[in-house]
Amino acid sequence: MSTVKHIGVLTSGGDSPGMNAAIRAVVRAALYYDVKVTGIMRGYEGMINGELFEMDRKSVANIIQRGGTILKTARSEAFKTTEGRKKAYENLKAHGVDALVAIGGDGTFTGANIFISEFDVPVIGLPGTIDNDLVGTDFTIGYDTAINTVVQAVDKIRDTAESHDRLFIVEVMGRDSGLIALRSGIGVGAECILIPELKTDINELFNRLEYGRKDKASKIIIVAEGDEAGGAFEVAKNVKERFPNYDTRVSVLGHIQRGGSPTCMDRVLSSRLGVAAVEALLEGRKGEMAGVVNGHVEFTPFKNAIKHISELNPGLLKLVEILSL
Ligand code: ATP
Repeated sequence: MSTVKHIGVLTSGGDSPGMNAAIRAVVRAALYYDVKVTGIMRGYEGMINGELFEMDRKSVANIIQRGGTILKTARSEAFKTTEGRKKAYENLKAHGVDALVAIGGDGTFTGANIFISEFDVPVIGLPGTIDNDLVGTDFTIGYDTAINTVVQAVDKIRDTAESHDRLFIVEVMGRDSGLIALRSGIGVGAECILIPELKTDINELFNRLEYGRKDKASKIIIVAEGDEAGGAFEVAKNVKERFPNYDTRVSVLGHIQRGGSPTCMDRVLSSRLGVAAVEALLEGRKGEMAGVVNGHVEFTPFKNAIKHISELNPGLLKLVEILSL
């Protein structure tokens, strides 16, 4: 018999499409196993401020298709303090919550690990971030939706770029990670992709533009926001100086990449992981992130999950070189 009788669920850090589907899966799985479930608003901030409410089947009706998070999310400075975490623990006790599912990214898991070590509350994490930069899952919740949003936006940009023979420099999210840029860049047939993981040689970019296909009227360069070249405006400045006769434009996609209805991939991933998280807590697991690796649900200790992926798939990098000719 499991000692877990009452699970709390929260979303924390940056929001990502599919978080609602994950909340729904956690709530429905808990009820399926006769476990009470409480929603915690605004991540750790709401845990500290006592924003807890009991959830039932209906609380998660009609949300699987919605972006954002019905539980809201926040970045909590107070949770980084011992007093803040003590208050959060006292609120959990007061509501009878004895385990947590925390949906978020590396910061959320770092906080969860400290909380477990201090109060021994079991926590299982779900990878809720558009960046796909956690170890222990092939894809994070929201990544597939985000790259599809980029692809839809850049396809539209390509239409106008083609009509005007323009060069577009498109900035996508990714302060430390080029995974959004890389996959979406391949998906839109970008001429060049600039990512933080690789040293940007601006002369190589110039060479590609100068000696690349002359018959292709439009050109798309995808730049991750954290690339060392300094983002899309900086790259555009350099390109304009070198090729003053190019009709160069910049588009920064920004927060549209976080929103929108999750793709079916993200909904299924969230559903699988939400159920797996509840089952893991009932089996007595804690301090781990649920992920899907090679099609199977796997659990990775938080301390390993938060080691950022620094190596990109060399096969994908080679694709860019071959296909952008
Ligand atoms: P994203 O990847 O989308 O940014 P994230 O989970 O990494 O998501 P953060 O803002 O880094 O987002 O972290 C979420 C919250 O986790 C923080 O606001 C804070 O409350 C908590 N947290 C992060 N680091 C720590 C820490 N060292 N100690 C305690 N709590 C922490």
